[in-house]
Amino acid sequence: MIDGSVLIGSQAIRREAAFHAVDPATGETLPQGFAEATAEDVARACALAAAAADRFGGLEPRARGAFIEAAAEAILAIGDVLVETAMSETGLPRVRLEGERMRTGNQLRMFAAELREGRWLDATIDPALPDRAPPRADLRRMNLPLGPVAVFGASNFPLAFSVAGGDTAAAFAAGCPVVVKGHPAHPGTGELVARAVQRAVAEAGLPEGVFSYLPGRANALGAALVADPRIKAVGFTGSRAGGLALMDIAARRPEPIPVYAEMSSINPVVLMPAALAARAEALGAAFVGSLTLGAGQFCTNPGLVLAVEGPDLDRFAAAASDALAGIEPPAMLTPGIHAACGRGLAALETRAARLATGQAASGPNRCSAAIFSVSAEAFMADPALGEEVFGAVSLIVHCRDLAELAEVVAGLEGQLTASLQLDPADEGAAAAILPLLQQKAGRVLANGWPTGVEVTPAMVHGGPLPATSDGRSTSVGTLAMARFLRPVCWQDIPDALLPPPLQAANPWQLPRRVDGEWQA
Ligand code: NAP
Repeated sequence: MIDGSVLIGSQAIRREAAFHAVDPATGETLPQGFAEATAEDVARACALAAAAADRFGGLEPRARGAFIEAAAEAILAIGDVLVETAMSETGLPRVRLEGERMRTGNQLRMFAAELREGRWLDATIDPALPDRAPPRADLRRMNLPLGPVAVFGASNFPLAFSVAGGDTAAAFAAGCPVVVKGHPAHPGTGELVARAVQRAVAEAGLPEGVFSYLPGRANALGAALVADPRIKAVGFTGSRAGGLALMDIAARRPEPIPVYAEMSSINPVVLMPAALAARAEALGAAFVGSLTLGAGQFCTNPGLVLAVEGPDLDRFAAAASDALAGIEPPAMLTPGIHAACGRGLAALETRAARLATGQAASGPNRCSAAIFSVSAEAFMADPALGEEVFGAVSLIVHCRDLAELAEVVAGLEGQLTASLQLDPADEGAAAAILPLLQQKAGRVLANGWPTGVEVTPAMVHGGPLPATSDGRSTSVGTLAMARFLRPVCWQDIPDALLPPPLQAANPWQLPRRVDGEWQA
């Protein structure tokens, strides 16, 4: 059911409608109105979250895992109305949203399994050495949850990176209550998922403050949430300006807190000479496939191609131009994202040469795909050319030689991904470029395209600023829960007062490292 309520703990609070979603495919305003959460709502949600934190964070991992799995089931049980609502609020096609719904359930289950496995606690026991001179105390360490986490739903993944998406799943897994600031572009989708999570909290008998959902479209709402002293960390996916604004608020608090913001990345793709010579046409077509996927609205969109100039790069560019000519622009997610894409295109128009254009827009909120080209020299002289244009827009940088290409890579900002297209004959030269790419990106890949992020324990979806606010972390994969944990050491604390994973009897039967040896 969707009625536009603010969901605080176990309550659904109805108020006068303050905003409506827009169907980006038609430009029509949708009929359902939504309340704007107030400063009082923020305070109440944070107070309930703080009250729930100890009990939720202290739950046996198996019990917290069962709750997370129940939340996944509750989301899947919403049925087709979830997909239909998301379609009308985002313009994304059914098949994409059904896949995203599956991913949302799977990543919640993945975190539940990780919880049960138990190594994330990093329970470590260095027993006392009373006979040593000087004697060593009994030292026991494990990870504890940070406390309530504020999550900002992302516009471009209305399910998998929104209300019960990756950040919420990771925070729940770590044992942190979550207060979600819903993305105003998909409020009905957000409310459906939030109500499912709210039900799962109640059915698991957990304190109501484990989850709250605050819809709204005013910057002030998110700002108040991040400033609330009971919030201990933030997960965000969105614009660079938004992420930086929230980082600033968090840093100015009397108690500054970490903001894990995933913001902007142009995902450089390096075409090595032998690969380019052998398969320029195939690479050109595959590049356009990745570039135009989902109207280019992926954080891993390949917005930058680097190669040595010459006939092989010309063949690549011609094949990419041909492929792009057949691409019809789908509706973008929001009028705001569409407008930002238009501004980015206009800026590129004055700084680089337009090489290719997709089909003309035939409806609202559509941006024709575009590829530009520029010399390496011009690229390095103009930092604005390295800024993300969110959409199916990319720039090919023509380098004189591999040394100049390496210079371009060395000057790039932080990235989520960096890709190499290479053949065996390229490996010698690639050995010099790969270390540069590793310094810049959270994930380096060969002979693939950056779009498509697997949700697995080995995945890193992170990278230095501005890709994310903290390149030591990932927002996808099981390691994402580490963002919401902190280590604590107990020294000579009596056994009965220790948390169960550190007690002598190990009542939860979790793996521990005792005296340097892992014990299953
Ligand atoms: P956004 O404008 O950054 O908004 C994301 C969320 O953050 C919204 O809930 C928004 O709430 C909140 N927010 C933004 N600025 C804020 C501020 N100064 N103070 C408090 N809250 C703030 O992102 P978007 O609407 O999803 O898309 C806009 C642009 O973001 C795109 O054009 C694209 O450039 C970028 N983007 C990047 C990625 C990526 O993966 N790299 C993904 C999505 C979007 P309110 O609207 O209520 O203020």
